[in-house]
Amino acid sequence: MTNDLDFAYRIYYDYQNYLEKSLSNRRIKYSDILPLINQLRSNNIFTISEAGKSAEGRDIFLIKIGKGKTKVFLWTQMHGDESTATMALFDIFNFFASNDSYSTVKDNLFEKLTIYFMPMVNPDGAELFQRRNVFDIDINRDFVKLQTPEAKILKETFDNINAEFGFNLHDQSTLYSTGHSYNTATLSFLAPAFDIERSVSPAREKSMKILGSLFNTMSSFIPGHIAKYPDEFEPRAFGDNFQGLGMSTILIESGGWKDDTEKQFIRKLNFISLLIALKSIADESYNHESIETYDSIPFNEKDLLDLILRNLKYKKGGHEYIFDIGIIRTELNGLSSSDYFVKSSIEEIGDLSVLFGYEDLDLDGMEVFPGKTFPKEFSTMEEVEKLDLNKLYLEGYTNIILSDENFSQDISELPINVIKKSQRNINEIQVGNPANLLIQKENQIMYIVLNGFLFDPSKRDGRIRNGIVFR
Ligand SMILES: [Zn+2]
Repeated sequence: MTNDLDFAYRIYYDYQNYLEKSLSNRRIKYSDILPLINQLRSNNIFTISEAGKSAEGRDIFLIKIGKGKTKVFLWTQMHGDESTATMALFDIFNFFASNDSYSTVKDNLFEKLTIYFMPMVNPDGAELFQRRNVFDIDINRDFVKLQTPEAKILKETFDNINAEFGFNLHDQSTLYSTGHSYNTATLSFLAPAFDIERSVSPAREKSMKILGSLFNTMSSFIPGHIAKYPDEFEPRAFGDNFQGLGMSTILIESGGWKDDTEKQFIRKLNFISLLIALKSIADESYNHESIETYDSIPFNEKDLLDLILRNLKYKKGGHEYIFDIGIIRTELNGLSSSDYFVKSSIEEIGDLSVLFGYEDLDLDGMEVFPGKTFPKEFSTMEEVEKLDLNKLYLEGYTNIILSDENFSQDISELPINVIKKSQRNINEIQVGNPANLLIQKENQIMYIVLNGFLFDPSKRDGRIRNGIVFR
């Protein structure tokens, strides 16, 4: 076992000691990290400074640790809804601040490296849980024009630090697969190109070697779940330009992992990845890696959907045929951006043998129908709240009719869909429509799909986050 792998296993098992428990879901805000940053001020191993203010006046912090000659700069959440690495940074700060059996490793890191962290580059976007900043500009496409305060701050900080290594930390779609496979691309790596020819400079070569070594180590934990971003040059992006300016730049994207909606396992993978990458920079152990390892990492592909139902029989218009149905669930911000709703959609119908589902069921011998609409009309949602929805599911109902014309929400907070009185018969099995299905074998109901969530109605199921409103 190599030194790096041994260290990775140890911190994997000890991770719970460092988990920052106050950050427990993806929708963290500036107000969640502010007290944590203030706490770091009382520990003299950290130097905290304000690098500048966001468009809405929130501080963007720079946290420095170590006194070594090799400088490393890590920044997270340029995109406000990509928070996985931000959570992991606070676990790393806890790791650095602890008195534990890792003092030799840490002393070595702090002696060889000076590490600068900029968590949550886009705090205004995080507040709204949106990708862009408050001007609706993508900060990671603003390197050249520098119109957003956040991009200016990132660029100025880069200029001031003049780091040898940089980590650009993001989240990607959970629907990416590693190559053409059913494996989720849980982590995706990129050593960004800095020109159209995708040249390999000495700086880029170092990024490739670090990522190759990281790929080897992290594959022990998530074999088959690490992919690589295509390296097309994006002239407006930070990583590409930083690489071109000579900082070895490493992009890590956090993707999906089954049943890890809040990305807490992926956060742990970030914690381990970043610490072993820092260790390999301090030890210069990445130098033993060849760039062929990086080249061998499979590309990101988009072969995943949230739910695939295969080999369903369907009768319509005098035809009877067999098809697969592929469904995705899109997250929408709730009334407050701390909360969210889900809107499902039928993404594809037909032969889906080249695609894979997080949930993937062969329903050979079963027949699919649109989810049924309960015949009685309700005048208020209060009446609907009193219903035993489980009884409705058992009879195949996925929708109710509401006559209340004042009801203006786009989603139903109850686990049932709402059809406005004037909008009947729109619940068809068609690409682009929400996924509300009834699946039977002979005359028995086997499954219900309600707003993209599959369940067996004879078993209580709490997974349905919300229904939708047909209007
Ligand atoms: Zn991003």
